Amino acid sequence: MNNTLLKVDGLKKSYGPLEVLKGISFDLSKGETLSLIGPSGSGKSTCLRCLNFLEQPGEGAIVLDGERIGQVPDRRGGFRFMNDRELAPQRREIGMVFQLFYLWPHLNVRDNVALGSIKAGGMSKPEAYELADAMLEKVHLSNKAGEYPERLSGGQQQRVAIARALAQQPKLILFDEPTSALDPELVGEVLTVIRELAEEGRSMILVTHEIRFARDVADRVIFMDGGHIVEQGPAIDVINNPQLERTRSFLGQVADNPGLAG
Ligand code: ADP
Ligand code: MG
Repeated sequence: MNNTLLKVDGLKKSYGPLEVLKGISFDLSKGETLSLIGPSGSGKSTCLRCLNFLEQPGEGAIVLDGERIGQVPDRRGGFRFMNDRELAPQRREIGMVFQLFYLWPHLNVRDNVALGSIKAGGMSKPEAYELADAMLEKVHLSNKAGEYPERLSGGQQQRVAIARALAQQPKLILFDEPTSALDPELVGEVLTVIRELAEEGRSMILVTHEIRFARDVADRVIFMDGGHIVEQGPAIDVINNPQLERTRSFLGQVADNPGLAG
């Protein structure tokens, strides 16, 4: 039985002379939560953005559920990059949640969540709204369906953004520091939703500075530095007992770190 959902092999990305990803390889199993940690500038966001081709990687292969992302075989036995029209259905298989929520200000919460299913997912309106209502229930916001985003707290807006990603019915969800822009008292409600999704067996990659949360919720952790994967393994091992000095040093600087001291 093949339980691999995502296979990333030799991913490289440069901006001009700046090599940001220097050959990243990892797998994600179906139902697994992987946390990506590392210092600012180490390439975590770039890595996530390459996975769904928001950025075109320089080299490497990304295979989701047996399907090569962003590239199709050409006549010479190699691969060419897909255009945006070809990419659109693949991008819907990967949901993304960013630090900032990017909700439509002129649409209420329910419309924000349903719109993609109608415009891009090809659903009828009743189907799309039924799905939107179910996803809003998952993020505990059924009572806010008729509100406009500006009337919601940051934590509530981020939960709407998560409901919107879920409504894509993606195979994989990528979170890029989903709580970093929130006031501290609003972080918990968003982490609770992410934890519930992990427990439900969603396949997720989470970039976060919430090290304690990563240790408790992720199955595996990857520590990135300088465009490389430095260390990876079961979350508890990497965070409580890192093998390499670079990992130890990073974890020692993170305020939230629960591991090294006790
Ligand atoms: P992280 O998310 O780990 O903080 P990023 O992936 O955002 O790191 O950035 C990695 C490096 O790539 C940084 O040096 C950043 O300045 C650079 N970078 C990111 N995006 C761009 C871009 N669009 N153009 C040029 N440089 C970029
Ligand atoms: Mg980043």
